[in-house]
Amino acid sequence: MRAAVVTAFGSPARVEERPVPQPGPGQVLVRLEACGLCHTDIHAMHGDWPVKAHLPLVPGHEGVGIVEELGEGVTTRRVGQRVAMPWLGHACGECRYCIDGRENLCEKQFNNGYAVDGGYAEYMLADARFAVPVPDNVTPLDAAPLTCAGVTTYAAIKNARITPGETVAVFGIGGLGHLAVQYARLVGAKVIAVDVTEEKLELATELGADFVVNARREDPVQAIRNLGGADAAIILAVAPAVFGQAFDALNRGGRLVLVSLPAEGTLTVPIFDTVLKGISIIGSIVGTRQDLAEVFALHAAGRTRVITETRELQQVNDSVDEVLAGTVPARLVFMYHTADLVPEGDGSGGGR
Ligand code: ZN
Ligand code: ZN
Repeated sequence: MRAAVVTAFGSPARVEERPVPQPGPGQVLVRLEACGLCHTDIHAMHGDWPVKAHLPLVPGHEGVGIVEELGEGVTTRRVGQRVAMPWLGHACGECRYCIDGRENLCEKQFNNGYAVDGGYAEYMLADARFAVPVPDNVTPLDAAPLTCAGVTTYAAIKNARITPGETVAVFGIGGLGHLAVQYARLVGAKVIAVDVTEEKLELATELGADFVVNARREDPVQAIRNLGGADAAIILAVAPAVFGQAFDALNRGGRLVLVSLPAEGTLTVPIFDTVLKGISIIGSIVGTRQDLAEVFALHAAGRTRVITETRELQQVNDSVDEVLAGTVPARLVFMYHTADLVPEGDGSGGGR
């Protein structure tokens, strides 16, 4: 099988031939159809964060594909089923977080495309329990961005505890932001989309944003205040200035929801304003399997639109450059042509 492999942080990925892995107990082997390129993959490839990815690394945590083989003891997934492999590749199932519905905070979790090989390959292994079923009427191309960008913004909107009629400002319209706008609309919020690129703001309008603010052309704090201020600000951009702007644009009782992860950064907030205005600062990290199931269900019901452009795995390094240059409208998705790789006859895996 072909896989994009990073052997040193900061060096380009190399697409190489690798043997198809064998599923161990509790695992499934998935023949991938698609995998989105999330900004986190670039941080993983660059070794940007304090906890590093394992090397050599196959990145990717928006993998979607078909279960091809079941490891020993797997009874909850079946061969031929379409599943998605999100960032949360495994959680312990026993700790207080797992038990009370916050498995995304499990301290024993491991992450696809980071601690274990991910979806930049034609096949991957997954913990069967964390390979989330994809409904039949959600295409792999749409399912891939929903697997991280979708679940992450969906959970952020949940964590912002929005009531209908409140105003939500979404900072950064891209792979995540274009979905955040839609989830904010779905919970009944008025949505202000903030970005520095006119095309992205046009996309936000098309997807239902009530107002747009081009932060390059006008002061976003003033613009949002002129619109009545924000009750929640969802930060999906990484520019340092955005965090202060979002804070200053909040109304009393406002929620500042941090999602993006700049390579480094410290948030400084005025204590006086935070206390007097009753501001909450909330960190929101991906979502649970249940959140992802809800994201898929909403999409299957026709409530969301996913904006993508497809790429070949061979173009992995150019695709990273495109994302870093900010020239991609929303999400890039690697598509795999693995239908012709399915072994004929005995299923022994020969010739893959
Ligand atoms: Zn991601
Ligand atoms: Zn746990």
